[in-house]
Amino acid sequence: MVKSVSILGATGSIGTSTLDLLREGDYRVVALTANSDAKKLAALAREFDAEIAAVSDESAFPELKALLAGTRTKVVAGPEGMAEASAADSEILLSAIVGAAGLAPTMAGFNAGRKVALANKECLVVAGRLFMRAAQEQGVTVLPVDSEHNAVFQALACGKREAVAKVTLTASGGPFRAMSRERLAVVTPEEAVRHPNWSMGAKISIDSATLMNKGLELIEARYLFDLDPAQLDVVIHPQSVVHALVEFHDGAVVAQMAHPDMRIPIGFCLGWPERLAWNAPKLDLPRVGALHFEAPDYERFPALQLARNALEQGGGAPNVLNAANEVAIEAFRARRLSFQGIPGLVEAVLEKAAKEGYLAEANTVNDALRVDHVARSFAATLLPQFAAKAS
Ligand code: NDP
Ligand code: MG
Repeated sequence: MVKSVSILGATGSIGTSTLDLLREGDYRVVALTANSDAKKLAALAREFDAEIAAVSDESAFPELKALLAGTRTKVVAGPEGMAEASAADSEILLSAIVGAAGLAPTMAGFNAGRKVALANKECLVVAGRLFMRAAQEQGVTVLPVDSEHNAVFQALACGKREAVAKVTLTASGGPFRAMSRERLAVVTPEEAVRHPNWSMGAKISIDSATLMNKGLELIEARYLFDLDPAQLDVVIHPQSVVHALVEFHDGAVVAQMAHPDMRIPIGFCLGWPERLAWNAPKLDLPRVGALHFEAPDYERFPALQLARNALEQGGGAPNVLNAANEVAIEAFRARRLSFQGIPGLVEAVLEKAAKEGYLAEANTVNDALRVDHVARSFAATLLPQFAAKAS
């Protein structure tokens, strides 16, 4: 059970859920970071008497500094400031920045020997092999915060690794699970961020609506648990009560269930290897009533198929997929791209990257970040073609 915690992305949805848990216990908060929300970060740093507060966006530094004047909190900014926050001496570093931007600060945490609780799945999509290798070389444990992976982590404890036949991640299906193709063509960003079961940041909410989130999670699981792509599967489960299932060679299937609340997997990471006793919302099965499962529709939700292909292809494909998806989501939120334009643009960027030879496995994190950069510029170049189709 840890007593001191740092949070990358403290002002976000996962950061907020983590801080809710910290309020219930006797924790020391070492470092808190944000991108640019100086007001929220300063309020949190004051409340938790943080040792360090870091903003990634250097233009937010003067405001943060002013807001924390007279406190003991050290205020830092930019890539070096973020690395300093990650490396600061805490028992656990909760990595909850959204997107590829979380990779460098999380790696800085590994390099300083921090145990990492990972919510930022994009780290593993951008540079999965390198990320896990760095963790192993530093002897650092990576505890999964993502609810499905947290469930897999728990279910894997029920048998030997050689006995694992299949790992299935559940997906709620998002807000558009039952929507027709025609209706999907005109959904708005406001509709896409309204998730039926979880309250999350905008990017992951839209990823849940396209099912790209589940695709990113397949890639996350592949590297986190060192599984073969053929061992990974997805099932749609609208209630979000069963989070993942592990099938063993003897036919036994171990599933993990919990009320859908991210504080449960976060609490698992804070408590591990013990179990944290807190006032967790309890699963009430009679109230849930029925649990429903169905196969995903890869045709209505092509993002899941694109991610599956990238998972099987490996190398740089997941990285390019992720970068293109981040650009596509920004464009969708800015109403420059339709909902179905998201997988359309991602597919076009993957094709261009294949043609121009950018799908090889990166040998270093810097190489991976260079490919991320190139894929974003491809996406920006191709965007107008797709944007024209957005109504
Ligand atoms: P939010 O958008 O709510 O929060 C993102 C956080 O990251 C904020 O603190 C934000 O700071 C910071 N941030 C954003 N961009 C940058 C950047 N370029 N550099 C540094 N910091 C940045 O996201 P979520 O909490 O929803 O998700 C975080 C991660 O956790 C994602 O990878 C997501 O996939 C994963 N996850 C989330 C779940 C959820 O329930 N929300 C569930 C499972 C996984 P600021 O406030 O200043 O913008
Ligand atoms: Mg998840």
